[in-house]
Amino acid sequence: MKQPSRGQPKFILDGMLGSLTRWLRLLGFDTLFCETQFDDEILDQTEHRILLTRDKTLLVRAQKLGLTAINPGSGPIQKMLQLLQNTLGICFLGDPNQSRCPQCNSPLILVTQEEIQDRVPKKSLDHHHRFWQCINLQCRKVYWQGRHWTRIQQTLDNLRFPDEEQ
Ligand SMILES: [Zn+2]
Repeated sequence: MKQPSRGQPKFILDGMLGSLTRWLRLLGFDTLFCETQFDDEILDQTEHRILLTRDKTLLVRAQKLGLTAINPGSGPIQKMLQLLQNTLGICFLGDPNQSRCPQCNSPLILVTQEEIQDRVPKKSLDHHHRFWQCINLQCRKVYWQGRHWTRIQQTLDNLRFPDEEQ
């Protein structure tokens, strides 16, 4: 199993940013999702993580505490990822071997078809050869590169070459 590369930022997101949370996990970033309405609970967990929130009060409080806090903006996910890429100087790559489980943030491991054949629709088993499973025993969700992944890849391709003519 691959570990996230050293120096890779970790994130914490407030309850308004569920979709961005799933994306960041899929892109391999250790990402906490904090649904609490109490800002203190979020700030307590923000050390060593980058806080993403649209809540202006929370942003200001975090910055006063010397924490890194960014407003990812709104709109399509591509716009938010672009902003993070530009602000943090990181590059989002779609490497499924680095992905974390979008549901629970645990790492995924490559598994054989035999290991997951009773948990995946037969059609997907016939059409795909690589499957990943969440290592969290309470979750154990299985993933493969279906049509959803093509859309993810398109979004990432647009990100990487924002100024190039397609
Ligand atoms: Zn999971």
